[in-house]
Amino acid sequence: MSMNTQGRQTSPNKTSPAKTVIAEHKTISGNRGLAQAEKLIFEIGTPRRTGVDFPKLKGVKPRLGGMERTDEIGLPGLSEPETMRHYVRLSQKNYAIDMGVYPLGSCTMKHNPRLNEKMARLPGFADVHPLQPRGTVQGALELMGELSDWLCKLTGMPTVALSPKAGAHGELCGMMAIRAAHDAKGADHKRRVLVPESAHGTNPATAVQCGFTIDSIPANDKGRVDMAALKAKLGDDVAGIMLTNPNTCGLFESDIIEIAELIHGVGGYFYCDGANFTALVGRVRPGDLGIDAMHLNLHKTFSTPHGGGGPGSGPTVLSDALAPFAPVPYVIKEQDKWKLVEDVDGSESFGRMTAFHGQMGMFVRALSYMLSHGADGLKQATEDAVLNANYVQASLSHDMSPAFGGICMHEALFNDDFLKGTGVETLDFAKAMIDEGYHPMTMYFPLVVKGAMLIEPTESESKAELDRFIDVMCGLARRAQAGETDCFKAAPIYAPLRRLDETRAARKPVLRWRKQPSA
Ligand SMILES: *Cc1c(COP(=O)(O)O)cnc(C)c1O
Repeated sequence: MSMNTQGRQTSPNKTSPAKTVIAEHKTISGNRGLAQAEKLIFEIGTPRRTGVDFPKLKGVKPRLGGMERTDEIGLPGLSEPETMRHYVRLSQKNYAIDMGVYPLGSCTMKHNPRLNEKMARLPGFADVHPLQPRGTVQGALELMGELSDWLCKLTGMPTVALSPKAGAHGELCGMMAIRAAHDAKGADHKRRVLVPESAHGTNPATAVQCGFTIDSIPANDKGRVDMAALKAKLGDDVAGIMLTNPNTCGLFESDIIEIAELIHGVGGYFYCDGANFTALVGRVRPGDLGIDAMHLNLHKTFSTPHGGGGPGSGPTVLSDALAPFAPVPYVIKEQDKWKLVEDVDGSESFGRMTAFHGQMGMFVRALSYMLSHGADGLKQATEDAVLNANYVQASLSHDMSPAFGGICMHEALFNDDFLKGTGVETLDFAKAMIDEGYHPMTMYFPLVVKGAMLIEPTESESKAELDRFIDVMCGLARRAQAGETDCFKAAPIYAPLRRLDETRAARKPVLRWRKQPSA
C-alpha cells in the first residue's frame, strides 16, 4: 500500500467542471445548500414523543358541567435537540436587520443597540408586574416619567399618553381625544376628517373607528398636499385633519403651518402621524407647527426590534387643547414620590386604552437609546438618516426614476418609469432583490405613485453598506433595461419558496393548522 501523497482535492471542479447552473434543480431533501427545509411543528412532532402522563384521577368528580375534554389535546412533542433545531431553522428563514440592509420604507428598520436589550433585561424592569404596590416600582415609574419628559421636550408638546401599544393604537388615542374634545363642546356636527391621499392606511381606518367620515385630499405634482383642494374641503363640519409629516412620499409638508391655521380656523384639530419622526428629532418640534396630537413609534424612531407584528409602542403627545382628554394612566411626581393617576372621576379624560400602563420593555429601550445618544446624538442620527436617504436617491437617480425631484427626507421614493417597456414590474424587481440577498423595499406604497418603490436606509447603515446596496440596485435596473426579463420573472430562484400566490395568501389566509384525516 502506498501513501496517498496527493491528499484531498481542495480546489473545486478541477476534474469535472460544472458548466451549467441548473436553476430548477431540486434537491432530494428539499434543503437548499445549508439552508434547511422545515415543516410545521405539528407535522414533525407527535403528542406521544415527550411529556408526562398523569394517571387518571380517581374519586374526583369533574366540575366542568360536561365541558371537559374527551379527545386528546394533540400538542406536538419533540425531543430537546429536535426542538432546538426546529426553532433555529425557522429563525434562519427570517431576514433580519442583523443580517443585512433592510430597505423597507415607512418602517424605520434601524439597528437596535444591544445596550438597550441589556437594560430592558435588568430584572427590576423585566420582571416588574403591573399590579405591584406603587412603593415597590418607584424606579419603573420614574423611568416612565423621564421618558415622558424627553418625548414632550423633543416634540415641544405639554402632555404625552404612554399607554398606546402601537402606532395605530396611538392614532386611536389621538383621535379619541379629538372626538372627546368636540363632544365636550357639544359639537356633534363635527364628524368629517380630512385625510391626504398619501396617508398611511391606518389613518383613515382610525378616523372611521372613532365615528368620523373620511374626505380625502389629493396630492399635488410635488408629492405634497394640494392646498387648493384642501381649502375647497374646509367647512364647519370638519373635525380635523390627519396628516403625516414627513409624508409617505418621504417629503416635508412645506405648507404645514398654513394647514394648521386653516384647520384651527374652522374649529378642527390637527392630528399628525408621527411615525416618520426619525426625520425630525432634534431639528423640528411638531408643537411649533401647530399640531394638536401626534403618535410616536418608539419602535421606529427610538429603536426596538420590530416587524412581524410586535412589539410596538405608540406614545401620543397632545397639545394644551387636548391634554384634558388624555387617557389614564399617567405618571406624576408628588413630594418625591412617583404616582400613577388611574382615576378618571372628576376629569375629562376619555378613559383607559389598555389594561395596564403600556410596554415597559420598550420604554426602557427607548430611554436607553435616548440617554446613550444624548440630545446632540439624537439630532445627529436624524441628520444622518436624511443624508443617507439622499445619498441613495442621488446614487440611484441615473438608473432608476425618482418619483419627485429635489431633496427627500428620510426615505427615497421611485416610480416604475425606468422599467417602462422592459416587461419587468416593480414586483419582479423586488423578487430579484431577494436573490441578491436583500429584503425588498416597500413597494406599491404610497398609492399616489405608480409602481412605487420606497427605500429607507436609516442612519445606521455605513457608506460601504449603502454602496453595496446601490451597486445591486443599479445592476438590477441595467439588467432589466438590457432585456434580461426572464431572470426577473423567475425570481426568486434562491429563496426557500419561489413565487407565492400573495393575493390568495392575503385574501384566504390559512391561519390554523388542522390535522389531515389520516389515510
Ligand atoms: C408604521 C406606521 C404606522 C403604524 O404604526 P404601527 O406601530 O405599525 O401600528 C402609521 N403611520 C405610518 C406613516 C407608519 O409608518
